Amino acid sequence: MKITSIETRRLRLPLAPPFHAAWDPDPRVHFDATLVHVHTDDGVTGTASGDTMDGFAAFEHLFIGTDPLALSVHARTLETISFHAGRYWPLEAALWDLAGRAIGAPVATLLGGAVDRLPVYASLGELRSPDRRADDARALAQDGFRAVKVRLAADRIAEGLSVVAAIRDAVGDAMEIMVDLNQWWRMAGDIARSLDPQAARRVIEALAEHGVLWVEEPVAGADLDGMRMLRHQTGTRIAGGEMARSFDELRRALDHDALDVLQPDVVLSLGVSGARTIGDLALRRNRWFTPHTWTNGIGLLANLHVCCGIGGGPFLEYPYDPPGWTPARRDFMLAAPVMVDADGCLAVGEGAGLGFELDGEAVAHYTVGAAG
Ligand SMILES: [Mg+2]
Repeated sequence: MKITSIETRRLRLPLAPPFHAAWDPDPRVHFDATLVHVHTDDGVTGTASGDTMDGFAAFEHLFIGTDPLALSVHARTLETISFHAGRYWPLEAALWDLAGRAIGAPVATLLGGAVDRLPVYASLGELRSPDRRADDARALAQDGFRAVKVRLAADRIAEGLSVVAAIRDAVGDAMEIMVDLNQWWRMAGDIARSLDPQAARRVIEALAEHGVLWVEEPVAGADLDGMRMLRHQTGTRIAGGEMARSFDELRRALDHDALDVLQPDVVLSLGVSGARTIGDLALRRNRWFTPHTWTNGIGLLANLHVCCGIGGGPFLEYPYDPPGWTPARRDFMLAAPVMVDADGCLAVGEGAGLGFELDGEAVAHYTVGAAG
């Protein structure tokens, strides 16, 4: 089998009302998703989505005519490209989808098939009042969610602590609570400094009173000493690495004992095979591996398959914050949105590859061109 062409499609879903992502200073009035399709001479196509794929056309020739199943070769090639240009990991996820579809097995099975489902945490995206979040948490618990993650804005710490207190009050011990400070990386143009370790320590100690499962990205990603110190001083799990630029960045964090929870997103950071390998290393060191998943339904599934394949967890991130962020918005390109079962779990399912079906009409309707 040979790769005959690689096609990208940029989709744009208008968001009215807008989505106010806590980590983005600008309200989001549209949601972009880029599909990558890998076509072969056998007629099998693999598809994935995640990072933008902007600028990929210049590197397409490195893949055309090659065997799509040479997955290690493709992952290494993509690493060399990421040194010079973008992180085209959605292509690698599309190749894994293709491999699964060619063989007739879910990607999670190809990766080891450790478990076939994982409990999820509702990953909230907006900043809302304590009262509103208490209501949200009660609704989530009723819908079967066993855990919830809230964002805490570094310039509104007191309000964030009140939100966590209100959620704990509302649901008691029925749900785990995680908190994300989003300090490892910044949106382009956002040059605000990260919290320093002493400021982060005070926040984490206050959060610990509410029994949080982990605190995510409390300081900048380069501050490995700060993260390690926070782990030791507070006894609270520190999570991070969703956008790590390279495998070695996360390997250094692991070697430095800076993290309890490793979270590389397979379609934004490290790819499927890189995330699988660092995840295995983390598990062998008795740390947690549970990837970030905030792209779209296809990116969510790619991360689900890797996490289930190697037996990560204990929860998988499920981007969900209605009415601002819903499965219908998140998965607008899919024939059916990725839904959690009544038990609060997400299952890999029987479908081959990444196990999704595109909504052809939605894809046609929302396509605005190819990747830039
Ligand atoms: Mg995060």
